[in-house]
Amino acid sequence: STSWQGKNVTVAGMGVSGIPAARVLAGLGARVTVVNDGDDERSRAQAAELEAEGVTVRLGDGDTLPEGTELVVTTPGWQPGKPLFAAAAEAGVEVWGDVELAWRLRGPDAAPWLAVTGTNGKTTTVRMLAAILEAAGLRTAAVGNIGVSLLDAVLGEEEYDVLAVELSSYQLHWAPSVRAHSAAVLNLAPDHLDWHGSMGAYAADKGRVYEGNQVACVYNVADKATEDLVRGADVEEGCRAIGFTLGTPGPSQVGVVDDILVDRAFVENRQKQAQELAQVSDVNPPAPHNIANALAAAALARAFGVPATAVRDGLRAFRSDPHRIELVEEIEGVRYVDDSKATNTHAAEASLAAYDPIVWIAGGLAKGATFDELVATAAKRLRGVVLMGADRALIREALARHAPEVPVVDLDRTDTGAMSAAVGEAAALARPGDTVLLAPACASMDMFVNYNKRGEAFADAVRALAAERA
Ligand code: ADP
Repeated sequence: STSWQGKNVTVAGMGVSGIPAARVLAGLGARVTVVNDGDDERSRAQAAELEAEGVTVRLGDGDTLPEGTELVVTTPGWQPGKPLFAAAAEAGVEVWGDVELAWRLRGPDAAPWLAVTGTNGKTTTVRMLAAILEAAGLRTAAVGNIGVSLLDAVLGEEEYDVLAVELSSYQLHWAPSVRAHSAAVLNLAPDHLDWHGSMGAYAADKGRVYEGNQVACVYNVADKATEDLVRGADVEEGCRAIGFTLGTPGPSQVGVVDDILVDRAFVENRQKQAQELAQVSDVNPPAPHNIANALAAAALARAFGVPATAVRDGLRAFRSDPHRIELVEEIEGVRYVDDSKATNTHAAEASLAAYDPIVWIAGGLAKGATFDELVATAAKRLRGVVLMGADRALIREALARHAPEVPVVDLDRTDTGAMSAAVGEAAALARPGDTVLLAPACASMDMFVNYNKRGEAFADAVRALAAERA
């Protein structure tokens, strides 16, 4: 075990993970220096607070490694190519992310981790998993970007039997010794490639989630790259590869037969070929990608020994987080659905696959994406499209190539008021039975502070429309 007393630890970054890490380390007796790129009013106020607690803070220089550093604890978002890390490597100093720190600080009787990563669906799956574990009477929490922070879960007063942990590719990059009970990679699509450097490096970081797994490595049968990661992982003896599929499951898989989620991997009664888990209609909303998330969550829970009935009860109890395929209102037979969280094309493709016919509201910051495949796949289901935001021309051009007959309203706006205009245009295009779907396939920051604000603007506009038509 590490003795922290007097140890020189450099914390890189002062954001949501840096500040708690600095506090925890200082509390253990380490000599903590926080280095931060920014030097603005907000960081100065935070620095003053930390300094009052005995932490040294160096603002405006996140690139130089402080003299005498014995360990670096980094904010996961910091890019591996930053000079600070080259200096650490040069000096033979280890670099841990926030997840690694939590893992190293956990107590001897710490709860095992069921880990979830993937390009899309992490938060939803971890929430479903926690709901299932809870239904089984286990003390648990959904840990990650939403809900309890990993450090709090590991060091706090509350005792847990098992944790449902969401891990990003950044976090996995900086978490070399984390060993999950079982883990799932939901899917792999190009995202954050600027950070990781290449698709290969991104996949390799995601694949770390399987390293040292004890019981099950859960992969997506429809996404071969996830299975390849399982094959490449160094796991504990007896650890099984478990696939999830929207089709009929093979042995060692969970899947769907006649609208029933079934398990052929962890069968309770040996006379039986498959174990019924839940109805498709127990998953809300029962969109295909969400059923996939439910199957992945079920596989992890079953690997932990949870009975089939708890899978059903947990899924029934589950409510999705805001702005993730959220039904806002039904107005004159038209459903208005907020999937503002669809910030990349892979996510938008999933939600567009869930409805027919669709009036699609899209646009924003493309982050280097191309839209041809997305538009070509969705073309047949599009009643119409309303575009806004900085990179809308990219989507408009893809529509002209692959869906020339679909009417497109190009709002030519990037102001926040554009959302209520977009909802008005969408309502005019929609017919009873249609779904108006906000699934931007783009980041929101050209028009909104974040995807939450974008989703709220949509929901506000829809409710105003409902009030007007009532
Ligand atoms: P993450 O935490 O990985 O960002 P979320 O659960 O917050 O994932 O979902 C983000 C968005 O991704 C959703 O709004 C939906 O559009 C899409 N999505 C969710 N699950 C999947 C999936 N399994 N495959 C593809 N897209 C998905």
